[in-house]
Amino acid sequence: MNGSDCLFCKIGSGEIEANIVYETDEVIAFRDINPQAPTHALIIPKRHIATINELEETDAEIVGKLFIAAGEIAGQEGFSEPGYRVTMNCNAAAGQTVFHIHLHLLGGRDFSWPPG
Ligand code: AMP
Ligand code: ZN
Repeated sequence: MNGSDCLFCKIGSGEIEANIVYETDEVIAFRDINPQAPTHALIIPKRHIATINELEETDAEIVGKLFIAAGEIAGQEGFSEPGYRVTMNCNAAAGQTVFHIHLHLLGGRDFSWPPG
């Protein structure tokens, strides 16, 4: 799939509504529709990248910006301390269901390790 029929591209462009918590020219974050924690946001590049496997050297900066956004949203939501979890699933074995990379930011409760 390219970006033209991608749910998260449509959220990034504003074509589909979402509860946005953070936005820059290149990155947008919105609340997950099926939250797994008191705060569960998805942080995406506005530009379509399907999975981690498609990342190229030139994507290093945008991937870094996803993590910068995670730290900023954690601050906004008030859980920088005691902490939070960020996760990116890649392909079916890890449970990826939307093929536009997204960093899950989960906070507001304790998390166990290892994850399921
Ligand atoms: P993953 O399983 O890692 O691909 O995560 C996809 C996430 O997208 C899931 O946590 C879904 O609940 C979430 N999701 C699917 N559709 C929407 C939507 N329209 N708005 C917000 N979150 C969504
Ligand atoms: Zn996309």
